Amino acid sequence: MEIYKGIPVSGGVAIGKVFVFDDAGLRVPRRTVPESRVEFEKSRLDGALASSVGELERLRQRAERELGDEAAKIFAFHQGMLHDRSLTEPMRRRIEAEKVTAEYAVAVEFARLAETFARLGDHSFATKVDDVRDLERHVLQALTGEHKSALSRLEEPAVVVAHELTPSQAAAFHPGTVLGVATDTGGRTSHTAIVAQALGIPAVLGVGQLAEFASDGETVIVDGDRGVVVLNPDEETLESYRAYTLRMRAFSATLGEMASLPAVTTDGTEVCLLGNIEFATEASAVTKLGGAGVGLFRTEFLWLTMDHEPTEEEQYEAYAETVNRLGGRPCTFRTFDLGADKHTQSARIEPERNPFLGLRSIRYCLQNIPMFRRQLRAIMRAGAHGPIKVMFPLVTTLMELRQAKMVLNDVMEDLAEEGVSFDRETPVGIMVESPSAAVMASTFARECDFFSIGTNDLVQYVLAVDRTNETVASLYTPCHPAVLRLMKDVVRAARRQGIEVSVCGEMAGEVEYTMLLLGMGLRNLSVSPAAISRIKRVIRGVDMEACERLARKVGSFDSERQVAACLRDAAWKIIPEAFGGRSADDPA
Ligand code: PEP
Ligand code: MG
Repeated sequence: MEIYKGIPVSGGVAIGKVFVFDDAGLRVPRRTVPESRVEFEKSRLDGALASSVGELERLRQRAERELGDEAAKIFAFHQGMLHDRSLTEPMRRRIEAEKVTAEYAVAVEFARLAETFARLGDHSFATKVDDVRDLERHVLQALTGEHKSALSRLEEPAVVVAHELTPSQAAAFHPGTVLGVATDTGGRTSHTAIVAQALGIPAVLGVGQLAEFASDGETVIVDGDRGVVVLNPDEETLESYRAYTLRMRAFSATLGEMASLPAVTTDGTEVCLLGNIEFATEASAVTKLGGAGVGLFRTEFLWLTMDHEPTEEEQYEAYAETVNRLGGRPCTFRTFDLGADKHTQSARIEPERNPFLGLRSIRYCLQNIPMFRRQLRAIMRAGAHGPIKVMFPLVTTLMELRQAKMVLNDVMEDLAEEGVSFDRETPVGIMVESPSAAVMASTFARECDFFSIGTNDLVQYVLAVDRTNETVASLYTPCHPAVLRLMKDVVRAARRQGIEVSVCGEMAGEVEYTMLLLGMGLRNLSVSPAAISRIKRVIRGVDMEACERLARKVGSFDSERQVAACLRDAAWKIIPEAFGGRSADDPA
C-alpha cells in the first residue's frame, strides 16, 4: 500500500481500478502489449503520423497567411520529417520486435534522432533538436487523442490517473465511467479542478509522482475530501474508507431537505445563494438543489468542449436553454474567459511565456471583436427568455470596461435595428479578480451595475501564486490577510455606491468561509451546485452577530494560519458532519 498526499479539489471518495491517462507531456513509460495488439499498435502509429501531417499542414497554411514564407517552411520541414521512412520504419520495427506501445516506440526513436542532432555540435543542427521535440509532441498528442476516445469507450468504470489534465480533457469525462481523478500537477482552483467538481467526480490534484508509478488495473482510493490517494490499499484501509463513504452518504441524505428551505440565518437575514455552472444542463441541478439562480456561467466551456468557436446560433441555443431551465431565476453570463489554462495556448503557434499574465479573458475578447460581438448577440438574445446579467472577466483597467460596454451597446443597437427582442436594461458588471480592480473598486463601482469577487484569480494575483502550480499550493489561500482586506474594501465600495456584490470563487463554496463572508457584509454567494446544500445548511445554522464577531476577530489576525485555524474551528462547531467526523490529520 502506498499513500500519496495531494490537493483535495473535488469532494467525495472513489474506489476503483486505475486507468493511466498518458499525456504527451509525460516521459513515456515503457509499456508492453500482448502479441494480439501489435498490429493494432502499428495502425495507431500510422493514424497518428497521418493526423500529425494533417495538423502540420493546417499550421503551415496559417503560418503562410499570418507569418510569411520563412515560418511556413518550418512546418513544411516538419511534415517532410514525418514522411521520412528512416524515422518511421524503426518505430514500426520496434513495436513488432519489442511488443511495446506506439507511444513508447515514437518516444524512443525521436529521442535517438534528437541525440544524433545534438551530437553533431553544429548550431544549426542543435536547433533541430527543438524541432524534433516539437514534432514528437505532435505525434504523441495525436496518439493521446486516441487514448482519450479509448477512455470514452471504457466499459468498466475506472479512476483516471494522469500526469496532467487540461480542463477540456477533463470536460470530456463522463461521471458514469470516470469514478475519480488523480493527477501529478494542478491546484485547488485550477479549471481542471472546477470541471471535476462540476461533473461531481472526486479528485485529488498535485499529487507529485503518481502517474509514473501507477499501472492500469491496480486498485486505488481517491479521497477528494482530504487530498489523499492510496494505491493498492490493504483490506483495513478499504474497510475504513467504505465506512467513511457510508457516513458521508448519510450526511448528504440529511441535506436533501435543504433544497426546499430558504437560505436565511437564524436571525432572519436572507442570503441569495446561487450556483456556478459550466454547462447548460447544470442549470437544472442548481434549481433542483435549491439555488436561487446562476451567479456565474463560465461560458467558455461551451467552446472548450466543442474545440471550435461556437457559432452565434450554437451559443444562443445553449444560453437560451440555460435561461429556460432556470424558469425565471436570474442567470449571470460571464463572457468568454479564454486564455491562461483554457484553450488559447494550444491554438497558438508560440505559447505565451506567462499565460496567466497574458492575453486572457476580457483582453482576448477585446482583441477579437467579431468573436466578442457574436457572443454578446447570443447572450442578449437569450435574455429575451428570462432575467440575465452580463459580466466581464479579469477587468484590470477602466478603459477595458468602457470598451466592452461600447461593444455591448453597439450590439444592442444592431439587435434593435434588426427587430430582435432583448432587454436593454440588462445589468452589466465585472468580476473583481485582479488587484487593480479591487484597489480601484470605488471607481469601477460608478460605471457598472454589480461586482462579483473572483477569489480564485484574486488570490493568485494578490499573492503571486499560480493557482495551478502544486509546488506552491501551500501558499495559495484566501485566508491571507491581504486578500481579506482587499475583499472588505470591495464590499464597502459596492455598498457605498449601492451596487450588488457577490463572491463566486471557490471560497464561497467551502463551509469554512461562510460565516466570514456573511460577517464581511456579503449577501450573495455563488457556489458549485454540489456545495449549495451544505452552504445553505451553514447559513441556516448561524446568526449575523456571531458572523460579524468572527469577521472582526479574523480581521485582527496577521497570519493566514491563524485565520485558517479560527475559521475551521468555527465551521466545525456548526457543521461537523461536513468534515466526515475525522480530525484534520487522519489519513484514512
Ligand atoms: C475566479 O477567478 O474566482 C472565478 C470565479 O473565475 P475562474 O475560476 O473561472 O477563473
Ligand atoms: Mg477568474
